[in-house]
Amino acid sequence: MRLILLGPPGAGKGTQAKILVEAYGIPQLSTGDILRAAIAAKTPLGLEAKAIVDRGDLVSDAVVNGIVSERLDADDCKPGFILDGFPRTIAQAEALDRMLQDKGVKLDAVIEIKADADELVRRVIQRAKESGGARADDNEEVLRKRLGVYSDQTAPLVAYYSQKGLLKAVDGMAPVDEVTAVIKAAIDQ
Ligand code: ADP
Repeated sequence: MRLILLGPPGAGKGTQAKILVEAYGIPQLSTGDILRAAIAAKTPLGLEAKAIVDRGDLVSDAVVNGIVSERLDADDCKPGFILDGFPRTIAQAEALDRMLQDKGVKLDAVIEIKADADELVRRVIQRAKESGGARADDNEEVLRKRLGVYSDQTAPLVAYYSQKGLLKAVDGMAPVDEVTAVIKAAIDQ
């Protein structure tokens, strides 16, 4: 099973990805988590990415494409994977297409998780409170920036994957277990 979870910050991609990891026994590949780990460990990648991530901008396509390409080569991705937070631009989607073509594999589905802007802001502010400020980009000002970046750069992927017949939209405003049920039904269709 090869899936992409698409949706704005706070839509619930990470929450659903973790549930699907258990359900399908495939890994979650979160470019946000990989970048945050690199930032925490102060690796060269982390040092390069920190200011960009903290202000809510996108790290360059070349850098994230490299991260994903390397990660997809790992053995645990052979049975499949759940991409969370990648691709985020059309150029990343095209790069992913080339990576998968090289491996001779295909995506099964792209799940778009939708939610209202007010609810996204509420959830991210809540997450910031609960995590004690663990993420420098989880504050209202940077969040507004991330939502703008999402509509400008990432939302065009909806049409991109829709044209390929891969897109399945789910209502991310529903309770977590209902969202999971709808995603599973869409995948198992
Ligand atoms: P969220 O979806 O909650 O905004 P993520 O954890 O997916 O957060 O990503 C956090 C930040 O990491 C992004 O705002 C961006 O700076 C960087 N990032 C993550 N994935 C990518 C990507 N595919 N391309 C560019 N930057 C990325």
